Amino acid sequence: MKLILLGPPGAGKGTQCKRIIDRYGMTHLSSGDILRAERAAGSELGRKAQAYMDAGALAPDDLIIAMMIGAIKKAGGGYVLDGFPRTVAQAEALDAALARAGERIDGIVNLVIDDEIIMRRLTGRRSCPKCGAVYHVENLKPKVKGVCDKDGAKLVQRDDDKTDVVAHRLKTYHKQTAAVVGYYEGAGKEIITIDAAESPDEVTASIFAELDALNDQVG
Ligand code: ADP
Ligand code: AMP
Repeated sequence: MKLILLGPPGAGKGTQCKRIIDRYGMTHLSSGDILRAERAAGSELGRKAQAYMDAGALAPDDLIIAMMIGAIKKAGGGYVLDGFPRTVAQAEALDAALARAGERIDGIVNLVIDDEIIMRRLTGRRSCPKCGAVYHVENLKPKVKGVCDKDGAKLVQRDDDKTDVVAHRLKTYHKQTAAVVGYYEGAGKEIITIDAAESPDEVTASIFAELDALNDQVG
């Protein structure tokens, strides 16, 4: 399956993507994770994106489009896109690239949630710098405080999860990214809408119920 997971920062996209790829065996393509890896490697792309990420703004479309179309080609088979497309221009570029390759997206899942819940989720988020696993200081605690269950690495708080940057990221979402849902609706695509305010397991159950049916159709 080829999927897009939409939703504001903190909706639970990364958390649910890890579960989706475990169940359906696809590649997780997170634009944010790829950018953080580029930054850690000190690449030119990472350096170019740095100031935007630190400010909670979007990196330029041309950089992101080239990066993600490249990642999709490399992934080969099924994948789930997380954090991309984040502007209508990115969605149009994705459509054009897929059309050129004779491919199509099988499903679009939109995680819906209020801003107040997001603020609590993001300021309490802790991430594993090694494997990308995501935890929360209250909602999804690791077995040992501050340590990744999977590889024992020390968990970190992302710099852009501090309160003032989160507020800016939410503004950016409403101003630039929310329109992507309307873009796909306008193109006649069916959107699977999920209430992301429920517990992590309840959200997963809702997503799996929809994707199991889709997977049977897609084969
Ligand atoms: P996104 O990838 O959409 O930015 P994450 O998956 O990183 O969001 O989740 C943001 C934070 O909220 C993390 O700390 C995660 O552990 C926590 N979280 C994710 N889903 C839920 C949920 N359904 N209920 C409560 N907390 C959640
Ligand atoms: P995320 O991990 O998805 O929250 O993304 C972290 C940051 O990376 C964002 O705040 C942006 O600065 C940048 N970023 C990630 N994905 C995109 C995208 N599709 N378009 C532009 N910037 C992006």
